[in-house]
Amino acid sequence: MPEIPAIAGGMPVRETLLPYSRQTIGEDDVQVVTETLRSDWLTTGPKVEEFEQAFASFVGAKEAVAVSSGTAALHGAFSALGVGNGDEVIVPAMTFAATANAAVFLNGTPVFVDSDPGTLLIDPAKVEAAITPKTKAVCCVDYAGQPCDYDGLRAVTERHGLPLVADACHAIGGSSKGKPVGSLADLSTFSFHAVKPMTTGEGGMITTNDAEAAATMRRFRNHGLTSDHRERQERGSWFYEMTDIGFNERLTDFQCALGIAQLRKVPAWTKRRQDVAHRYDAAFAEIHAITPLTVQPNVSHAYHLYVVRVNPGMLTVGRTEIFKALRAENLGVNVHYIPVHLHPFYREHFGTHPGMCPVAEAAYEQIISLPLFAGMTDADALDVIEAMKKVCSYYQR
Ligand SMILES: *Cc1c(COP(=O)(O)O)cnc(C)c1O
Repeated sequence: MPEIPAIAGGMPVRETLLPYSRQTIGEDDVQVVTETLRSDWLTTGPKVEEFEQAFASFVGAKEAVAVSSGTAALHGAFSALGVGNGDEVIVPAMTFAATANAAVFLNGTPVFVDSDPGTLLIDPAKVEAAITPKTKAVCCVDYAGQPCDYDGLRAVTERHGLPLVADACHAIGGSSKGKPVGSLADLSTFSFHAVKPMTTGEGGMITTNDAEAAATMRRFRNHGLTSDHRERQERGSWFYEMTDIGFNERLTDFQCALGIAQLRKVPAWTKRRQDVAHRYDAAFAEIHAITPLTVQPNVSHAYHLYVVRVNPGMLTVGRTEIFKALRAENLGVNVHYIPVHLHPFYREHFGTHPGMCPVAEAAYEQIISLPLFAGMTDADALDVIEAMKKVCSYYQR
């Protein structure tokens, strides 16, 4: 007799909820934030540049521009590329809505492209097929933390003379053929939201080797002004001009101080995520009802998410019931993502509909994100494995 899962009246594998992701905040983080709060600069001070320089050097880019969120990073990046009225920006269907929304902020049109069925990363051949005379940029997403097929994408964007943006919000700490995420596209964007691999509470960054684009994005985050508050103070001048329309998408100094401290820990955290992911891989190789996503050779996967597909033919129930059963075991499982073109906003305003991206749509019916974060213990990982074994054997066909 298989063990009874909690959803059918058995005991859950654990008493407290294990979230799918959780920040790691140490005493050192608390200390640097407190010190910055006691300094002269709460915002637009020296910590911003210090964080930008540390981040640029970490990812091997010439420039990094700190902004208030991952969404603001995409907004700044698309704006620097000149996305405007009627311009098309190619984005994957399998991503968080913000990737596409940032094009809409600038009156652009997101064009949704389907995924590779194994990795769920954007498919370069489908990107090429979606290019039109209106295409202004291609934006790929390092979904789950796995770097995209950059060789394939670059070949396409170079052939068509288009810029490549990497939405790397999942992938700080990852690399492809030894080159760090953040140096693989013309512009790369990051998020420091609390669930992401490193955090500043809310926050974001854009990295690039293009100094002019960086200067444009620094103005864009600051109302389109030619100078910021600290530069004016240093010059002893009140003068500034507004050259373009901009926003207030700045990151505070105390958040940048936290970012500097968090960034130092990213290598160790990435290794820990990979260790847990490899344990999952080994255990799930024996559970035929679920299949982890494919990992390409030559990448170091940052594992923001660990995503499995539930194989419908092998179980008496579907993904949703497996999801509920895992929640009943006190695992904070999640689903990433509802393909963006299926959201009512896009259906209503951009005429998108089911059937446009069949691979992403089919995957969406099968995927579950399992708990994975740097602060997880080995016992936590074993709980996830035990719950998965219990639930899958109970519902085995
Ligand atoms: C989190 C995320 C964003 C948005 O970042 P915020 O900091 O929450 O604004 C954009 N794209 C992807 C792929 C994300 O995961």
